[in-house]
Amino acid sequence: MRKPIIAGNWKMNKTVGEALAFAEAVKTKIPSKDAVDSVIGSPALFLHGLKEVVKGTDVQLSAQNCYFENAGAFTGENSPAAIADLGVEYVIIGHSERREYFHETDEDINKKAKAIIANGMTPIFCCGESLETYEAGKTAEWIEGQITAGLVDLTAEQVSEMVIAYEPIWAIGTGKSADAAIADEICGVVRATVEKLYGKSVADKVRIQYGGSVKPENIAEYMAKENVDGALVGGASLDAESFLALLEAV
Ligand code: PGA
Repeated sequence: MRKPIIAGNWKMNKTVGEALAFAEAVKTKIPSKDAVDSVIGSPALFLHGLKEVVKGTDVQLSAQNCYFENAGAFTGENSPAAIADLGVEYVIIGHSERREYFHETDEDINKKAKAIIANGMTPIFCCGESLETYEAGKTAEWIEGQITAGLVDLTAEQVSEMVIAYEPIWAIGTGKSADAAIADEICGVVRATVEKLYGKSVADKVRIQYGGSVKPENIAEYMAKENVDGALVGGASLDAESFLALLEAV
């Protein structure tokens, strides 16, 4: 049995005050960590303050990116060691917005995955295809390629503890969510790729999220699918009531 994991991805939204008010509003209302992992993916800027607010509750935190070195002359970057030191549990890597606008490569993402794991945190590794790739019927090979390249040199044990998010780019922020059957099919491709690389026990253990226009009204359809263990949610995670509604629906 894989524990569901619901992660909000705030992207570059909110001020410090808004972020802390959100955490105050949800911190005692979220479900027990025994039943579901509830994660807020915040800009790095707010993580310190958020951790103070949610300490001792079942709210977990995620950064949305980090660098792959722990320290040094890398102006403007955030150290995975410093993020881990705050008590942050997860880091989202390889989001399509980072791949597209900030030119992150599979190799960069692989280095980040290793640095995150070395610092005791869990990567939420994103993959997903463009509309062009989807329409050309090449989704499965694209996903297999991103996963194979992104996981290079990771051990079976490390991969089994990871979270992989399948997010079709054409469904992100568009309101046009992938049909639950398609989400299940491609999350199944993710699982099959992990099985091919690391074997069945790792594939059975790794948690796979669907992301792309998930909202309180449709999350249950995704969660009912065999290969979907959670959701990575952008727009519908920004409002406290909506975030709680997502968790309640799981
Ligand atoms: P969305 O974003 O829920 O707003 O579509 C998902 C994501 O990019 O993680």
